[in-house]
Amino acid sequence: MPPDAPTPRTDEASGATPDVGGPLPHRRLGRTGLTLPVVSLGLWQNFGEADPWSTQREIVLHAVDRGVTHLDLANNYGPPGGAAEESLGRLLARELRPLRDELVVTTKAGYRMGPGPYGEGGSRKYLLSSLDASLRRLGLDHVDIFYSHRFDPTTPLTETIGALATAVRSGRARYAGISSYSARRTAEALRVAEQVGVDLVVTQVSHSMLNRWIEEPDPHDPAGASVLDVAGAEGLGVVAFSPLAQGMLTDRYLDGVPAGSRAARGGPLRPAFLSETNLAHVRRLDGLARAHGRSLATTAILWALRDERVTSVLLGASSTRQLDDNLAALDAPALSAEELEAVDALPSDTGINIWASRSSD
Ligand code: NAP
Repeated sequence: MPPDAPTPRTDEASGATPDVGGPLPHRRLGRTGLTLPVVSLGLWQNFGEADPWSTQREIVLHAVDRGVTHLDLANNYGPPGGAAEESLGRLLARELRPLRDELVVTTKAGYRMGPGPYGEGGSRKYLLSSLDASLRRLGLDHVDIFYSHRFDPTTPLTETIGALATAVRSGRARYAGISSYSARRTAEALRVAEQVGVDLVVTQVSHSMLNRWIEEPDPHDPAGASVLDVAGAEGLGVVAFSPLAQGMLTDRYLDGVPAGSRAARGGPLRPAFLSETNLAHVRRLDGLARAHGRSLATTAILWALRDERVTSVLLGASSTRQLDDNLAALDAPALSAEELEAVDALPSDTGINIWASRSSD
């Protein structure tokens, strides 16, 4: 090691993987050699054509500075679809290129992206042409993880997972993953992956205090396993998205719907999610969080990370302030028994899981 090289940091107390990506703790992605920061940034919302470029740039550069080196995309993020990948492509070309190998850039295909029969789903034709289009928009020759964004009951799983295998073998992706697959479909995908000779290393799934489906037994799974059971048993990494329930598990909607918020913009946080019942749950959790000296967002993030099978929580942000508030969770004290009980007393499905219907057939 050259005399002025930084001393590698280790964290023996927490048992966290030595810090390779920056100042954040990392966890290992399942049984791979890859680690991810425990907090990751997604570009689903707030990185569209209507969002100011200066804010987009500031959020991503600040995230990377703070060690949030895992940036998650999909072909259809924006809006319009493709815009978020173009934004990151622009940043990579202008400012982030020297850091490319310190970043984990991921993308997906599965939901509707283009017109006609080949514009969505799980076919080999769609997945691989979509990946090529994503790489063009990003200006990259590979992504780190390529995901099948949803289960497609009209395409044989061998074809969908086979397309992921091709993506990895051709060098266009370093790793392969699935997203929003039910426990039964996850187990099947893992078996098929073995047959077609690709390592399926991660599942990306929604999970929050208001949406606990990945902990629930899958009634269609022969063993009644949950997604977390399958992931734990198979050494599959878990990236948990929307841990703040799109902003509901923050102070954002405690006093109505603020201008400029996701709900106000007619985004995927549907008005029905902000029902009086759900808001009553949120207020109770907020009161408890405050009584323990923490914000609700901090509580939601600590809760989502309490299970070691979860590699990373995948957040969104519309400002650097939100990102900083969320990263403060990593310095906060652990959740109290009273808070954990309050979460357990909530219904595990509050009607906000818009991805459930695409997880199986
Ligand atoms: P989230 O973290 O649950 O919600 C993020 C939103 O919450 C922000 O846009 C912001 O809303 C609000 N927020 C965040 N921090 C806040 C704070 N400290 N105080 C107040 N409000 C705060 O996650 P998400 O954006 O729904 O999803 C995160 C990522 O997960 C996506 O970008 C994507 O990468 C991934 N994802 C994947 C799938 C899939 O199918 N695989 C689906 C959905 C998401 P405002 O914009 O209103 O300020």
